[in-house]
Amino acid sequence: KKRVFSGIQPTNNVHLGNYLGAIRNWVETQDQYDNIFCIVDLHAITLPIDPKELHINTRKLAALYLACGLDTRYCKLFVQSHVRQHAEIQWLLNCYTPMGWLNRMTQFKTKAGEDMDSVGTGLYCYPVLMAGDILLYQTHYVPVGDDQRQHVEMTRDLAQRINSLYGKQIFTIPEAQIRTSGARIMSLEDPTKKMSKSDPNPSSYITLLDDPKTIKKKIARATTDSERLVKFDPARPGITNLLSIYQILTGQTQEVIEAEFEGKGYGDFKAALTDRLVETLSPIQQRYQEIISDMPALENLLKQGADDVRPLAERTTEKMKRAIGLG
Ligand code: ATP
Ligand code: MG
Repeated sequence: KKRVFSGIQPTNNVHLGNYLGAIRNWVETQDQYDNIFCIVDLHAITLPIDPKELHINTRKLAALYLACGLDTRYCKLFVQSHVRQHAEIQWLLNCYTPMGWLNRMTQFKTKAGEDMDSVGTGLYCYPVLMAGDILLYQTHYVPVGDDQRQHVEMTRDLAQRINSLYGKQIFTIPEAQIRTSGARIMSLEDPTKKMSKSDPNPSSYITLLDDPKTIKKKIARATTDSERLVKFDPARPGITNLLSIYQILTGQTQEVIEAEFEGKGYGDFKAALTDRLVETLSPIQQRYQEIISDMPALENLLKQGADDVRPLAERTTEKMKRAIGLG
């Protein structure tokens, strides 16, 4: 079986974009691959985060992975910082990553904002840590949202560069797996920006743990426009984003959906979308409550996951160190 690796940062609450762009796709094809899914807590410290929050978010995210349907028969789940080789290989990879490559990464520019001088260098090296995550496990496929395409491309370049420099196959060259639908869910507040956990405004996203009342409120105030036509239209990103979410949740075609709401207003459409969201998220929330209430079992599962993946991470790190002349 081909290997799949992916991860999510335990910053804040997992949202609909993370679910539709990533987790849902992992679940759908998990039986076809040898899967490793990580909770990337080392990435989460690239921007300031409260220690207690980081600790609990890490557990919450693991519980959500399981609640969304990831099955330990097919997947290994673990916490990035529990396997030291992630930090180790990142240093090694840093030394082979041209600054020019990192300067081109758009996520850094967005997240650093105006604050170039005081932002931590970890944020700048984020893509190198991510490359390490992927390369440690000799990964074939990396299922991610569209915003991570550039980072996976850089990972490929870096792997190729090191393989050819030392004339041997140290790393498998990975490939991004990005779906055509759901790969870029937009913010409910500003539909020209992607939905993000780190957005300071909670109305901009629906989290997987939002209750029906909250979902209703957030969808009701989601930005649309004054045209009041329920139609897919790239020139109207607000309603189109909501329609795309509806399309993924119902599995219907654009034509069928537009016909369903012909002659109806945004209010009717938003009510239908709210129902679908509640319907999708309720069972996840129920399973989540059960899983999070047994913390010892969850801790145990994460420890087992780290123990299972560590040998491969060690082998890859040793391979690279030997090639370089270290160790
Ligand atoms: P942050 O703002 O902290 O970076 P995030 O919402 O971007 O949070 P990440 O943990 O960085 O979440 O990404 C986890 C996964 O979710 C990645 O595969 C990423 O591509 C995907 N993803 C993130 N945002 C979206 C989105 N709006 N639509 C679809 N997929 C997304
Ligand atoms: Mg992100």
